[in-house]
Amino acid sequence: MTNSNLPSSFAIWHGMERSNIDWHPTVDESKCMGCGLCVVTCGEKRNVFGFDLEKKKSVVMFPENCMVGCNNCGVACLWDAISFPGLSYVKDMVAKIPADQIQKEFQKKISDNPSLIVVSGNA
Ligand code: SF4
Ligand code: SF4
Repeated sequence: MTNSNLPSSFAIWHGMERSNIDWHPTVDESKCMGCGLCVVTCGEKRNVFGFDLEKKKSVVMFPENCMVGCNNCGVACLWDAISFPGLSYVKDMVAKIPADQIQKEFQKKISDNPSLIVVSGNA
């Protein structure tokens, strides 16, 4: 899978090369009604979908911009035109993340966002 538009912020997923992770939507053209909801549902920074004005169908333009594990557009599509690999694929990828990688990211997030710390019993 190649993607020349991949922003550097999406190139690595928890220490792993995003290009080695096969998670992205697939549009079934025969089911797509061209409503455009998936185009606007996907965040502006990711912009996974383009749109073919002639065919009036959405097109997966930048698959590697898709957030691993997200399936919002597939859930939202009323015509079930969007599919993903099974969720077990995501679980398998998560299982490959080294524990120290998660701890490193966790500590940084908490340190950058002290308001996320909950002190129970101080109510
Ligand atoms: S939401 Fe579904 S029907 Fe609408 S454009 Fe996207 S794929 Fe097509
Ligand atoms: S699953 Fe989420 S990130 Fe991926 S294309 Fe759909 S809305 Fe965008």
